[in-house]
Amino acid sequence: MAETTGMSRDAPSARAARIDIDPTGMSGPRKLFVKSYGCQMNVYDSHRMADVLAPHGYVETAAVEDADLVILNTCHIREKAAEKVYSELGRIRKLKDAAARHRRDIVVAVAGCVAQAEGEEIVRRAPVVDVVVGPQSYHRLPALLARAAREGHVVDTDFPIEDKFDHLAAPSRAATRARGVSAFVTVQEGCDKFCSFCVVPYTRGAEVSRPVVQVVAEVERLAEAGVREITLIGQNVNAYHGAGPRGAQWTLGRLLQRVGEIDGIARLRYTTSHLPVQSGSDRILAGMNRRHTRAHYLGVVERLRAARPDLALTSDFIVGFPGETEEDFRETVTLVDEVGFAGAFSFKYSPRPGTPAALADQVPEEIKATRLQRLQQAIDRHQAAFNARALGMTFDVLLEKPGRHPGQLVGRSPYLQPVQVTASADMIGEIVAVTISEIAPNSLFGVLDGPAARAAGRQPAFASPGA
Ligand code: SAH
Repeated sequence: MAETTGMSRDAPSARAARIDIDPTGMSGPRKLFVKSYGCQMNVYDSHRMADVLAPHGYVETAAVEDADLVILNTCHIREKAAEKVYSELGRIRKLKDAAARHRRDIVVAVAGCVAQAEGEEIVRRAPVVDVVVGPQSYHRLPALLARAAREGHVVDTDFPIEDKFDHLAAPSRAATRARGVSAFVTVQEGCDKFCSFCVVPYTRGAEVSRPVVQVVAEVERLAEAGVREITLIGQNVNAYHGAGPRGAQWTLGRLLQRVGEIDGIARLRYTTSHLPVQSGSDRILAGMNRRHTRAHYLGVVERLRAARPDLALTSDFIVGFPGETEEDFRETVTLVDEVGFAGAFSFKYSPRPGTPAALADQVPEEIKATRLQRLQQAIDRHQAAFNARALGMTFDVLLEKPGRHPGQLVGRSPYLQPVQVTASADMIGEIVAVTISEIAPNSLFGVLDGPAARAAGRQPAFASPGA
């Protein structure tokens, strides 16, 4: 464990912790490296962890070997995601050993859903870890680091009574700007659905919605710093039911309307809903505890398309769920063909400890692998067809960040397809008309649509190129 020379033994307040948690004895800012795995909420949480540590003298670095504190913000959704953490910890142990030879300490924290699910087990498997902190207690990081410096390893996987959002520091304007013109804001967290394959209710906890005023204040700050696109996030975001300013509960729709009124915000998105279909077989859907049938899903798709014919639909799929037969699997493929998705994520079923489906009859690995390949071929075919339709269309695109090649910026079409645009870096944050000039298998390339584009880009505009 980290040497604790020079530490005072009691650090009752966060302010004291600021001095106490420096195990290096070095002066100057300490460097923080945070790595996010998994979902957008982890990206959001990673920023918030950096924000909570900034007043304690931590400055973010992109180079892990320079770091005084390394935080791995982990994902537990599938086994592969969870195992990545341990290989990364192996590399960090080597860095820590090398640093120790130069009398420099590296403090290591594991946060996120692996931390929540595995707790103490992480420290047993990887003694290099100083702090294990779950997704609902990371506002306590300064105090936990101070405690780890005094006592050795600490594990905090509480679901505390206090709300972490009441204890998080707001980012500085500079930090917000550095994170770009598109930002995530958590509005809802946790899930009460208990799909039989899913760890989320155990790692993120029960459904909680943030109050409207809190969300609005956070978006206003982001907008003031130049953010133009907000994605409201939640594990089941359409279950949002936060308290409104007068106490009555607001729906996600009402919240979106309110956030859309904030000056400077030109794009609003939200994710994830409980819409992903997962399978085309009613038998499997029942086993998954998904509460929709194939027919119900297709009915929803029909209604959505009636309202908006050019809608881009994406989904998530799991293949090889326990008990899935060839016949069940074929129903998933026919559903994909019937709907014609613009894209989809697909996964081999991964048994998660503590979830009901993990105990059921498992489909052999080779069968899962071939089914995944077959499904992905179908999805790719539809995605390519959807992308091909964009050729020659003109979209309003928010230029988000440097693109794939020098001289390119990247933004998204109204259908969320990434578009590489030939444009100069000073145009980041502008919304411009872009004409799609080339389609590669998974990307769109575009050019600015005439000299008026810059001026036109100043106002929020929502293109409907299907019309
Ligand atoms: N809240 C969303 C799911 C978010 S998790 C919903 O309920 O629809 C993202 C995706 O990971 C899921 O949609 C599912 O396709 C996949 N997934 C979740 N648990 C999994 C498991 N145990 N094995 C394989 N894939 C899984």
